[in-house]
Amino acid sequence: MKEIHRTVVTPDRIGAEMIGIPAGGDVEEDLRLESVSEGVLVSGTVSGDTQGQCSRCLEPLTGTVSVYLTELFAYPDSETDQTSDEDDVERIENEKIDLEQTVIDAVATELPLSPLCREDCPGLCPECGTRLADAEPEHGHDLIDPRWAKLADRVSDQGTQESES
Ligand SMILES: [Zn+2]
Ligand SMILES: [Zn+2]
Repeated sequence: MKEIHRTVVTPDRIGAEMIGIPAGGDVEEDLRLESVSEGVLVSGTVSGDTQGQCSRCLEPLTGTVSVYLTELFAYPDSETDQTSDEDDVERIENEKIDLEQTVIDAVATELPLSPLCREDCPGLCPECGTRLADAEPEHGHDLIDPRWAKLADRVSDQGTQESES
């Protein structure tokens, strides 16, 4: 068994637009490599600092992501290699284990789809786009119900006609 403790700088952003480990960010890998009959079993924790924005109010936010992964890298020509789909099981190629895609997939799965700056983020005002967490508690707009707005138009139209005649 072999252990890997290393920090890798990711050349590309890991994750989605809303949140992810930015390009150039550190990815900590604490992994064990175990030799099994069909290949090498890699397991352990991968973690890193994330940057993104709140999906409700778009405020920038930072955080950390940590994910436990297990992945079998099959030997070429092993039974697993021959009986499984290329997409399902990783392969050892040229006697090398390429962890990059495994790490990217594991981290991307762990990241929240809708990150929030805080659990109860009120988001943005649908009328003016103000961030409601920063706004006055009574923030609001005096909107006329569209049905009333139409009625108000009609009333004023009639008023105009009457004064013309
Ligand atoms: Zn927010
Ligand atoms: Zn508003």
